[in-house]
Amino acid sequence: MKIAVLSRKASLYSTRRLVEAGRERGHEMHVIDYLRCYMDITSHKPVVMFRGEPLTGFSAVIPRIGASRTFYGTAVVRQFEMQGVFSVNESQGISRSRDKLRSLQLLSRQGIGLPVTGFAHSTKDVDGLIHIAGGAPLVVKLLEGTQGIGVVLAETKKAAESVIEAFRGLDANILVQEYIKEAKGMDLRAIVVGGKVVAAMRRKAAEGEFRSNLHRGGTAEAIKLTPEERSTAVRSAKAMGLNVSGVDMLRSNHGAVVMEVNSSPGLEGIEAATEVNVAAKIIEFIEKNAAPSRTKDRVKG
Ligand code: ADP
Repeated sequence: MKIAVLSRKASLYSTRRLVEAGRERGHEMHVIDYLRCYMDITSHKPVVMFRGEPLTGFSAVIPRIGASRTFYGTAVVRQFEMQGVFSVNESQGISRSRDKLRSLQLLSRQGIGLPVTGFAHSTKDVDGLIHIAGGAPLVVKLLEGTQGIGVVLAETKKAAESVIEAFRGLDANILVQEYIKEAKGMDLRAIVVGGKVVAAMRRKAAEGEFRSNLHRGGTAEAIKLTPEERSTAVRSAKAMGLNVSGVDMLRSNHGAVVMEVNSSPGLEGIEAATEVNVAAKIIEFIEKNAAPSRTKDRVKG
């Protein structure tokens, strides 16, 4: 099959691994910088252009759209979908996953366990917001943050008030969330491909830090999920309408709670920790599912 990885750079670990895994399985792999693609959206025959040539003959695309490029990146993915090209994650699913609030609303609608969470833009009712999260200690998150930036643990009510007020000054959307203390600075990441957990790891925060992001000095190890955690991960991916995703969870006293579902999970940390060839699992998924015009998002939200 002719498969495109939509990625800014061929040298990125995940991009490289997808190309390698595809070639090993006998496919023709291309890396296409989606920001360099352009399109005639009025044409009856939708096509994506790249360096003066139409991109044709692809059976599937694997979107690896950067968080800050969601708008343009998903437009390119959509144009491929309009051509009938199978996309591993559809444009709608990617857009949905990039909106943390929308994601939490969709997960909650499916009855998936979440940390108790309040959401606000510029409320003056700071007490009310703190009350929703069950009082201090609590976690305040900037909605636009990634890699743990803009995630603050407020240990006292006073600290929580100050942080919320400071963020209000920034004119930002914030989440105020119950602090899952019993997670002890650890979180779980499950990679779900085609409705199955194919790899899972536990990330542990560096000493003196509660955020377990690998970018924040966290360490990772392979882990076996409980059947309940497995099912939570699979249901979360389905609720978001994603064929490939990374589901981040915390182990709380009331079971697994989901923090986030990522539509372009990095492969480096998970492949190193688990020794699972996740890239090959994604290619196998394409082999089984990439029939033309299989766009079928049904999430309704
Ligand atoms: P980002 O999307 O920026 O990585 P997250 O919401 O995933 O932000 O939070 C970063 C890290 O902080 C998580 O991996 C987890 O270790 C920790 N964390 C986030 N929310 C909570 C919470 N409610 N309780 C305990 N720890 C949390």
